[in-house]
Order: sequence, then structure tokens, then C-alpha cells
Amino acid sequence: MQTLRKILEQAEANAVAIGHFNISELVTLKAVFEAARDLNVPVVVGTSEGERQFMGVRQVAAMVKSLREEYDFPIFLNADHTHSLLSAIEAAKAGFDWIVFDVSTLPFEENVRQTKAAVETLKALRPDILVEGEIGDIGSGSEIHDAAPDLQKGLTTPGEAKRFVDETGVDTLAPAVGNMHGMLKSMVAGSTKKRLDIERIRAIKAKARIFMTLHGASGTDDNDLREAIAAGMTVVHINTEVRLAWRRGLDAALAKQPDEIVPYKLLPQVVDSVKQVVAARLALFSTGRRARPAVQ
Ligand SMILES: [Zn+2]
Repeated sequence: MQTLRKILEQAEANAVAIGHFNISELVTLKAVFEAARDLNVPVVVGTSEGERQFMGVRQVAAMVKSLREEYDFPIFLNADHTHSLLSAIEAAKAGFDWIVFDVSTLPFEENVRQTKAAVETLKALRPDILVEGEIGDIGSGSEIHDAAPDLQKGLTTPGEAKRFVDETGVDTLAPAVGNMHGMLKSMVAGSTKKRLDIERIRAIKAKARIFMTLHGASGTDDNDLREAIAAGMTVVHINTEVRLAWRRGLDAALAKQPDEIVPYKLLPQVVDSVKQVVAARLALFSTGRRARPAVQ
């Protein structure tokens, strides 16, 4: 089995991106796994602190590990948006492959100091683990929002990205480049799309030379996603679109079989609904545009 780092290096060399999808129960895990297997592309599932608290930190790690081993398939697990070192250590000990250590709401210097300490502690515990840091403001909550936050002031600059990467020793970086968590109602309706600052992505990549993760990509214009990947994004996070598909699939299943009480007769429709969204996103992420310089 290839390591997650190798998978990222290959994605980088091929100018494609790895899809990352959040889960908080077995139905979505099944859907993500089946979609990735159908397309034969590596995949990452993520759980935020709330999501993994619901599933159980060790329990979700055991489920993902069992799929990886039984099917000999590159599915990896990320501890998404981990806000404390204690919670990061818990995930590392449970066997997570990757930790997003997110103290991005703190002032820059304090973010650098705490992220550096987290990298050192986590690598001492598990030398193979990847650690991601985050700078800038991309909002919070993979939900449906009434209004867009003002993200303009929190955009990442190439200079601070380089400093952050050099000083903290993170493996991957989550910058703010026009992306945001959650979707607006108009995005759910399909009448508006998120737009990305492609030149900023290119400039950050050229300066910081690191694997970059695009968070909050649900509802983003398809072509902007292609351009963002070509400009240097190696991983793309999708959560809200998955949650929306989950809810719509569940509503449809209940409406179609109002008297059914057997979970495994209702839930396959939810798996299908989520799987369609995941498959479409994975297909888009794995179509490379052009070669780009490898991470140094
Ligand atoms: Zn995120």
C-alpha cells in the first residue's frame, strides 16, 4: 500500500487533485468508498471534531482501516479542523493518517507558534503522520448560510504562506483564496457559484512550494476548480454538497417508502444520492490540465 505522502506526490506530478469528503456515519463512508473504487482513484475521508465525536475517534479509524486492508485500496483518514493539541494527539493515537491543526483564528504569530509545537509533538508520536496548517479566514460551518462572510480581509498572501510553511514545518497548507466553508442558499439553488482567486493560488504555490488543500469547495464553479488544481491545489475538500445529497436522498427514500422501517432497505437510496455527488467531483478532480512543478 502506498503512503498518503506518495499519493500526494503522484497527484502533484500529474496535476490532479485528491478528493476529501467528510463523513459522520457509515452511509456516507460507503458512498465515498464505492465512488472512489468505481473510478479507481485514491480518496481521503475526513472527520471534524464534531463528526468524529459522534462516530467515535477509534471507531471511525477502525472502519477506514478495515476498508483499506480488506480491499487493498488507498483510502485515508484525516482529522479535519482540529482545534486543540489534545484532540490532535487523540486522533494520531487512534491511527488517523493526517491532522488538520487549525488555530487560524489566532493572530498569525500565535498560529505559527502553536502549529510548530503541534507538528513537533505529532511527528514525535507518529513520524509518518501528515500535518496541515491553516492561515487566513475561510469561515466556519459546512452548512447552508443566509449571508456570505466578508472573506476579503482574510485572504492568504504568498509571503505569509512561505513564512508559515518554513517556520512550522507543516506538510500541507490550507490557504484562503476565495474559498469558504458552507454554501449560500443561492448556491444550493444553483443560481450562484463560489469563485476562486486563481492568480493568488499560483503565487502562493510558487513562493511556498508545498502541497495545498482547498477547503470549503462545495458550490464552486467547475472551471475554477480545474484552474485551481492546475495552479497548485493538491487536495480538494467537499462537505456541504455531500450533506445536501445525504439529506435529499433520505427525504426521497422516506417519501417513497413511508411505511418502511428497515434501515438497510431505506439507506441504499441515500448511498446512491451521495455517491453520485462524490463520483462527479472525483471525476473532475482527477482530470489533469497540465504538468506543474513538483513540491521541493
Ligand atoms: Zn475545512
